[in-house]
Amino acid sequence: MKVIKFGGSSLASGAQLKKVFQIVKEDPTRKFVVVSAPGKRSKDDEKVTDLLIDCATKSLLNEDIQPILEKIIARYRSIAEELDLGTEIVAEIQANLEELVAGDKNKPDYYLDAFKASGENNNAKLIAAYFNHEGLKASYINPLDAGLYVTDEPGNAQVLPEAYDNLYELRNSADILIIPGFFGYTKTGKISTFSRGGSDITGAIVANGVKADVYENFTDVDAIYAANPNVVQNPAEILNLTYKEMRELSYAGFSVFHDEALFPAFKAGIPVQIKNTNNPSAEGTRIARERPKTNQAVVGIASSKGFSSIYIEKYLMNREIGFGRKVMGILESDGLSYEHTPSGIDDLTVILRSAQLTKEKESELINQLKNELGADIVTIHHHIALMMVVGEDMRCNIGTMSKASEALAKNNINIEMINQGSSEVSMMFGVSEADEEKALKALYEAFF
Ligand code: ASP
Repeated sequence: MKVIKFGGSSLASGAQLKKVFQIVKEDPTRKFVVVSAPGKRSKDDEKVTDLLIDCATKSLLNEDIQPILEKIIARYRSIAEELDLGTEIVAEIQANLEELVAGDKNKPDYYLDAFKASGENNNAKLIAAYFNHEGLKASYINPLDAGLYVTDEPGNAQVLPEAYDNLYELRNSADILIIPGFFGYTKTGKISTFSRGGSDITGAIVANGVKADVYENFTDVDAIYAANPNVVQNPAEILNLTYKEMRELSYAGFSVFHDEALFPAFKAGIPVQIKNTNNPSAEGTRIARERPKTNQAVVGIASSKGFSSIYIEKYLMNREIGFGRKVMGILESDGLSYEHTPSGIDDLTVILRSAQLTKEKESELINQLKNELGADIVTIHHHIALMMVVGEDMRCNIGTMSKASEALAKNNINIEMINQGSSEVSMMFGVSEADEEKALKALYEAFF
């Protein structure tokens, strides 16, 4: 049994839905279909989710929402017309949106989340109607009826463990089930969405719950590439990845698959197959616990901008037990999440995402670190890009670091930081943001 998930670009128009229908129809083991909201039809198009966010935000501010509401309905209408579905389903969607507009504005987070979730929810209803219209028995199922319970964190929900057992019951359905992605329900019956791109997470949760043999994730690329194709020309396709490798790559910028979506699949040992709706015969990328060995130590290179470093220096830091704990305690009390902590004898650097900092927060933090730790120097630097060289086989290969650093040196790129844990799944280089693209090209050429 397969769980199959389609992303927004696969569901953006009637023409795309026809491809989706063929893909589901041709394999009777594709029983659980998880869907996103309609995405972009072209580069400058708008995603329905973004329109919904805009609409809810304006509505909360009591601004005029009529034009944007009409735009959202028009997206569904154009799909329904392309598929000859009649007007009933569009009227149903329109009524639902009007109900949402009239919702309780005293709880803005839930108000917004109900709007966001409606993108996938209404799309799932439309897709079920379309499949039945084409003679394939399919039922829409609401996440509440499926028992997909999540934490009460609008916009950042997490699945509750009992959801898995509830979802197992879906195996008894004779019909193909169309399940909206991106949200679940709290125990008090409120809608709570996952983080953006979270339909991937729903797909993985359903795959775990129904104990699927494979979780197929259909998107708009033939495979996951060894480097960002917007920077490196025709990068190699990756056929096989381990969960760990995928996690490292998506952490540092690979956006094909939501990084939080790996965990539910990984926990149940369910392989994830990334495929292309526009070219379903392409093999795609398989992500699993293990993969066949290759003679490549490195499987992919990711990079991500937007990091800052806090440099802390104190003479005899190495002899001060508890120094690191105190640093982390200060970050924790300020609600700051950190990424890496490369260190020297008398210094420690904390890497964190710049978006968490403001000018005021920064000067407060510097004062706190200086006063509470008695540090000699505390400075903050911005505009750091992290380059991640990823591959589990680095463990049994010698010379990966030398090859990488040589490639960067040859291209006159200064390495500001290096980090490698003993798991040896990835190697991290901090470089200036201005050098990011050059560094990615240099590293790609060195390893591929
Ligand atoms: N529609 C949601 C978003 O745009 C979720 C998804 O497509 O996965 O974030």
